[in-house]
Order: sequence, then structure tokens, then C-alpha cells
Amino acid sequence: MAENRAAGEPGDHADIRDTVRRLCAQFPGSYWQEKDKVEAYPAEFVAALTEAGLLAALIPDEFGGSGLGLSAGCAILEEIQRSGGNGGACHAQMYTMGTVLRHGSDAQKQTYLPAIASGELRLQAFGVTEPTSGTDTTALRTFARRDGDRYIVNGQKVWTSRAEHSDLMLLLARTTPLDEVQKKTEGMSVFLVDMGKVIGKGLTIRPLPAMINHAATEVFFDDMAIPASSLIGEEGRGFRYILSGMNAERILIAAECLGDARFFIDRATTYANEREVFHRPIGQNQGIQFPIALAYAHTEAAALMVADAARRYEAGEQPGAQANMAKMLAADASWESAEMCIQTHGGFGFAREYDIERKWREARLYRTAPISTNLILAFLAEHVLGLPRSY
Ligand SMILES: Cc1cc2nc3c(=O)[nH]c(=O)nc-3n(C[C@H](O)[C@H](O)[C@H](O)COP(=O)(O)OP(=O)(O)OC[C@H]3O[C@@H](n4cnc5c(N)ncnc54)[C@H](O)[C@@H]3O)c2cc1C
Repeated sequence: MAENRAAGEPGDHADIRDTVRRLCAQFPGSYWQEKDKVEAYPAEFVAALTEAGLLAALIPDEFGGSGLGLSAGCAILEEIQRSGGNGGACHAQMYTMGTVLRHGSDAQKQTYLPAIASGELRLQAFGVTEPTSGTDTTALRTFARRDGDRYIVNGQKVWTSRAEHSDLMLLLARTTPLDEVQKKTEGMSVFLVDMGKVIGKGLTIRPLPAMINHAATEVFFDDMAIPASSLIGEEGRGFRYILSGMNAERILIAAECLGDARFFIDRATTYANEREVFHRPIGQNQGIQFPIALAYAHTEAAALMVADAARRYEAGEQPGAQANMAKMLAADASWESAEMCIQTHGGFGFAREYDIERKWREARLYRTAPISTNLILAFLAEHVLGLPRSY
């Protein structure tokens, strides 16, 4: 029964998966190795995905996208990761627009969504994390002060991925000081910042060298003036708007983790069958085959949770528990598979040309971002199990 298939099983968006596989085959490991080595943005790959309309999969038809459901987005991102590529370069172009779609004005939707769908505009920078507040988002300090028909923004963001490769940034800032709101989740607002208009005029972007090639940056706002029309929805309700997009993001990232896990399992299985030591394939040893089988079992279990979360999301639910569990379990399965794969490859796991060490580094991210495992556990403990809030 197709509806019971886990994301990633044959027959689940088979045409889309096939299209993505064929596209990704044009970008082999050597392409990603080179980008990783010189820390360059995979512009050709992103252009090819854009041209194929794959990054516009979730934008409704009326705004020029394909109007597909979340599970189609999952299939696209999973296949990219499974091919050995890295959708982290552009995955946010697929889902960041959701905030504009759900909470933007008609004028904002008409202005931006068709241009995002065509790829003319990139909206793939998302400024939430700050150096001092970290996971405690409501303690963020970036402040947008209303001044007539504009806002003046001051503050700093950190780990803002792809800011140098995006035209627009979705920015979360305080518009009412923390000590003047009744609930700390109030008084924050979301802005759609046209970065081209303010770069060098209050906006500074600095690359942040990191373990993986993820185009990470630090972003500084110094009396940055943006038009009041940049505000999305109502002032003060931004935290809710951001939260409402998080389930989709978690489910899509979980699908990427499944793709990574399946990449590692594919590679490990092939290598374990081919590599002969002591006159037999290493895969004949239970010490090699059991970790592969265990990683496979955990990945398939996570896939069921991802499929369930996606199905609920498409049915109009807000599946916070399932989305968080899917992301955590898929990130764990992916990391387990990464560890297994590098161990299976022995010393060759460290050779750049095998792509294992690069994917191993890249896969580690999703136990930390966009939300770390501890915070998911805290969410489940408090909101699902009814345990006392721990922080
Ligand atoms: C490569 C990369 C790309 C990123 N891209 C973006 C982006 O585009 N936009 C963006 O806004 N952010 C981005 N991030 C930031 C990312 O979302 C955060 O790093 C992540 O949410 C963790 O926040 P933190 O780094 O501030 O850790 P902290 O909040 O300082 O936490 C540190 C550790 O303490 C744990 N911890 C904290 N509080 C508690 C608690 N109450 N209970 C138990 N454990 C706790 C955390 O789980 C974590 O393990 C990115 C990060 C990386 C590394």
C-alpha cells in the first residue's frame, strides 16, 4: 500500500526521485570534493536544481511553483543526500518561503513568491541564532525599532547559512524589549530583508569558517534601515510565525538525514562485499556486517517516523511531536551509519576521493542544527509526556 511506504521506498514519488538521481549523476563526488576543498558554493548544482524547478516544489501553482506536498520535498532532498551531494547548499530555498506564504500579505506573496519560484530571487538565509542567546531564542538581542515608515535594526546573528548566496533574509528580531512583554515569546517580529539594498549600508556579512562547507556566516546590523513593508504579518507575533514553519523544516531535514544514512549504508555494503582481507570479503565478518545491518534497521525505523510526520503534515495537522522525533531519530541513524561506514572503510575512509570523510563531517551537523538533540528531548519530555519543564 503506497500510503504506508516509508519516505525513500521505491514507488514513493518514483518519478521525482528518478529526476533528482539523473540530475545528481552530473555532479559526482569529484565535484563535491573540489567545492569542499576550496570552500566554494556549489553554484552549478544549485542552478541545475533551480532550472529543473525542484527547489520550487512546495510553492503553490498560483505563484509559479509545482504545488507539491511535503513528501515530494522529502523525496527530493533525500535523493540529493543519497547521491553523495549536499542539499544544505540550497534546501532552505525550498522551505523558508513558507513563512511568507502563510503569514505574508497578498502584496508580499505576489511580489516575492513567483520570483522565488523561478529562482530569480533566492530566499535561503534565515537569521535566528545569536551568539549570546543560543537556543534560548526568546533572549535574542537584535532589535528593530520603528521609525516612521521604516525600521532601524541593530544587533548580530551567527551561523546564518548562505547569507552571501541569498537575495533575501528572513530575520527574527525583537520589536518590544523583553522586560516590556507579558510572555517572553511575545514582542518579536519577522522581517523579509532585501539584503542587496542594505549591504554595506548597515548590513555586514562575514564568512564563518567551519568544519563543513555550508556557507556559514556572521551577520551584523548597524543602524540598518529597512522599509516598514518588510514586516511579515503582525508586529510582535514573529516567534509564532517562525514556530509554525519549524515542523516542515524538521521533516525535510529528517529526510536529508535518511538520504545520508542510505548513502553510507550503500557504500559500506558495496565496500564490505568487495574488499578482501585474510582471503575473504570483510563483509563476511559479523564485526563488519552487524553494524551495517543495525544501521539499516535504525534507518528504516526512522524512515517510518519521517513518513508518518510528512503524512500528518500533508493532512493539515501540526505534528510537532512526530516532526521532532523524525528529525532526532533520522539524525541519529545517519550519524550511526556515518560512523559505521568510516569504520568499514578502514584507512580508506579517510581518503578524500571516497567521499566518506566529507559526508561523515556533513552528517554530524544534524544532531546539532537546526535544533540539537537535547532540545528535542526536552520538548518531548515537557509537551508530550507532561514532565516538568527543565529550563
Ligand atoms: C553549520 C551550521 C549552520 C547553521 N545555520 C543556521 C541558520 O541558517 N540560521 C540560524 O538561525 N541558525 C543556524 N545554525 C545555528 C543552530 O541552529 C544552533 O547552533 C543550534 O540550534 C544550537 O544552538 P547553539 O549553537 O546556540 O547552542 P547552545 O544553545 O549554546 O547549546 C549548546 C549545547 O547545550 C545544550 N543545551 C542548551 N540548553 C539546554 C537545556 N536547557 N537542556 C539541555 N541541553 C541544553 C544544547 O543542546 C547544545 O548541545 C547553524 C549552525 C551550524 C553549526
